[in-house]
Amino acid sequence: MSGNEPNPAATLQRATPEAQPRPAKAADGKRVDHARSAKQFLNAPEHAKSHDTRVWAMRTKRDKQAHTIEEWEELRELASQIKTHTLAHLDTYLEQFEANAKANGIHVHWAADGAEHNRIVHEIFTEHGVKRVIKAKSMLMEECGFRHYMDSVGIEIVETDLGERIQQLDGEDPSHIVVPPVHKMRSDVARLFAEQLGSDPDNDDAHYLAGAQRDATRPLILDADAGMTGANFAVAETGGFVVCTNEGNADLSANVPNLHVASIGIEKLVPRVEDMGVFIRLLSRSALGSPITQYTSHFRAPKQGGEMHIVLVDNGRSKRLGMEKFWSSLKCIRCGACMNTCPVYRRSGGLSYGATYAGPLGLILNPTFDAHRYSNLPFASTLNGSCTNVCPVKINIHEQIFGWRQVLAENGHLPWTKKTALSAAGKVLASPKGYRVAIKTTNSALKHLPRWALYNRMNAWGEGREMPSPPDNGTFHDWYRRNRLKNQAKTPNEGDSQ
Ligand code: SF4
Repeated sequence: MSGNEPNPAATLQRATPEAQPRPAKAADGKRVDHARSAKQFLNAPEHAKSHDTRVWAMRTKRDKQAHTIEEWEELRELASQIKTHTLAHLDTYLEQFEANAKANGIHVHWAADGAEHNRIVHEIFTEHGVKRVIKAKSMLMEECGFRHYMDSVGIEIVETDLGERIQQLDGEDPSHIVVPPVHKMRSDVARLFAEQLGSDPDNDDAHYLAGAQRDATRPLILDADAGMTGANFAVAETGGFVVCTNEGNADLSANVPNLHVASIGIEKLVPRVEDMGVFIRLLSRSALGSPITQYTSHFRAPKQGGEMHIVLVDNGRSKRLGMEKFWSSLKCIRCGACMNTCPVYRRSGGLSYGATYAGPLGLILNPTFDAHRYSNLPFASTLNGSCTNVCPVKINIHEQIFGWRQVLAENGHLPWTKKTALSAAGKVLASPKGYRVAIKTTNSALKHLPRWALYNRMNAWGEGREMPSPPDNGTFHDWYRRNRLKNQAKTPNEGDSQ
């Protein structure tokens, strides 16, 4: 059966599916309001539940895979040390990589930022008369706004990763770095494909939908003028790079057209090809809980008769390398494990972060691009440390989140309400007497104030839950004074008995 023929067994008569939640984007120069967007996401309970379940399933599978490897913690430590060493000698390894890549017949370019990256790639395409490009998933290109740039100059980009293609057809950014449409339900995809590809809107069978997309996209792939990939790792000693996918789409992007352009962040370097033995074992296990990606493709030279270009992109990475508290975020291998374990990410959806990177990783990366715009994000965390515990390269993510809160406060990036509330809380918590008075006052208010005075717009915490009931017998401090201090007065301690 061809992919886009309706499968009658899977065509179900169902009630109208819940509408897909669409968080509003913050305007230029404005702060992203994560809390408001998260609330919008939670107002679609079927989507919120499905998202939480799917993302948590990845975390659970990750744990199972990690436990099958006795030396898992040693691998994490080794990966972290390889990254520390590489970043400490990044200039040397970049030069080595460039020299070896050129010796292999690859053209190497350097881009200081996203705009330069887009300009360089555009020039290569113009030189070759490129009209259509097939592209594998790349978070770096998302950072650079590459697809939007290419739209603006009239070059068609066709995403070859199924998830990224779904997001492209829907005009949305990826909501997860490994599973871009993880916030969507199958009914959303069925609706989208019906609109964009003419498939059956009532058939949300995953095989049917994948087949419909494949039938629509394959002719575009075969007819493309150029292919683009990112890279998971770039190997200094060989001048080659490695791309990991589960669909083999990077291989299509790299091998079908004669022109291949790879965009690589400068932090992707590793010194030796044998280092892959560490990172490949960690990457897919941490990401999806599978032992390895279906395709782990090594590229080292242009294909016969073809041309290959690499664009090495900085886009704020050198600046981050100089940040004492935050440089180690450059170790990230984009596995998404920190997102899958984060209770805030799981319940708020990736698009509520309003940025290229969502979840704990996003909280520590996005402020390096624009501190004011993303100043709310480091507060979207419980600081429980689970992200740090699962990170395969041992980045101290929760400590960096806390560090960003301090930096943003010191540099005046907090909204007035948060600044005032935190300052008041700081004064109360610094004074035991003030704290006790505040607790007593609150307990009394909870008992006696009418509901409207407690549950209103000022009380964001109470919007989704009931406030705790105040204890009948006073505070813990009152209890301690009544019991322990009284007993201590009656019973001489051991030191006094002699
Ligand atoms: S910060 Fe760590 S856990 Fe999160 S995506 Fe990067 S490597 Fe994975």
